[in-house]
Amino acid sequence: MIPFNQPFLTGKETEYIVDAVNSKKLSGNGKYTKKCQSFFEDHYKFKKALLTSSCTDALEMASLLADIQPGDEVIMPTYTFVSTANAFVLRGATIVFADSEKDHPNIDVNKLEGLITPKTKAIVPVHYAGVACDMDPMLELAKKYDIKIIEDAAQAFDSFYKGKPLGGIGDFGAFSFHETKNIISGEGGLLSVNKDDSIGRSEIIWEKGTNRAAFFRGEIDKYGWVDVGSSFLPSEVVAAFLYAQIENQEKIQTKRVSLWNQYYDQLSETEAKGFVKLPKVPSYATNNAHMFYLVCNSAEERQKLIEYLRAKEIHAVFHYLSLHKSVFFQDKYKGEALENADNFSQCLIRLPLYYDLTIQEVSYISDSIKSFFE
Ligand SMILES: *Cc1c(COP(=O)(O)O)cnc(C)c1O
Repeated sequence: MIPFNQPFLTGKETEYIVDAVNSKKLSGNGKYTKKCQSFFEDHYKFKKALLTSSCTDALEMASLLADIQPGDEVIMPTYTFVSTANAFVLRGATIVFADSEKDHPNIDVNKLEGLITPKTKAIVPVHYAGVACDMDPMLELAKKYDIKIIEDAAQAFDSFYKGKPLGGIGDFGAFSFHETKNIISGEGGLLSVNKDDSIGRSEIIWEKGTNRAAFFRGEIDKYGWVDVGSSFLPSEVVAAFLYAQIENQEKIQTKRVSLWNQYYDQLSETEAKGFVKLPKVPSYATNNAHMFYLVCNSAEERQKLIEYLRAKEIHAVFHYLSLHKSVFFQDKYKGEALENADNFSQCLIRLPLYYDLTIQEVSYISDSIKSFFE
């Protein structure tokens, strides 16, 4: 069976973990945490980067930093992962779901202004498949209505919008290093803080509501409880693993992009014949090859394709179910139908894509898809 995903190991992970263990400094915010955070601050010019235990944690931190209160409204796509919404539901926010673009799962920026009310506190764009949402019009709305932008950049490591790194455009960005993402630490995440006036508070919320980080820099002579917070930081063992991945990020990205391009070339004829649609990358966005997906013409056809590929020992999978139709939310949803998102829920299929996938396997998968449709 060709799996849908297979975590890639650079070979240095265990060496760095052993080093972390031998240093007898295993809690968070040590040497490897700083190395990882410095990479993001130097490479992408994030004002502050904080490692977290997951992207979910980073989103929860952003929700606290944006000071979301019960009754505040937060706008986000319905076609996303539950954590995008849960981080704000935990603070008592009302979630306002928006539709996807017709030809891309990303949030349709043209629909946003109609959803804004005096209670709107934040917009949470999700850069689906690592491809940027159209950020400029969104930033204009944020300015006009005094709304925070929190980028769910879980899939968007090393991807750009008009030359700007994703996660570095809004007020905050949340990345994931879950084992299904481009660079991984099993579970793991990172919060990017892009506004100067949130940096101090972000460190405090990260360290259980204390000013411990400032204490360890020698800026204050004792530390204590100064704000709300939680334990959002991962241990040095996790950071050591992640650092090995970060060191190899160029190699990982290059390989993924070449596999993605090969899929695209081999399946373009199938798209030209109208059997499927291939992923779209707008001119303002780069492609970090997080995901290769197809959009089928119907839910039935997608199901048959998944079964056909399974019989050929290829594990292809669908993706999100629209959150406004979830068990948890369907009774609470009062907005209009979100048809584009529903279409991706029903018709989108993701193909295997991971570092150790071979070009022969991509050819085999592409040929299998062609033979299904012919
Ligand atoms: C993976 C993912 C998350 C959650 O990341 P974790 O690190 O598992 O918490 C959130 N949002 C999106 C869009 C994701 O793809």
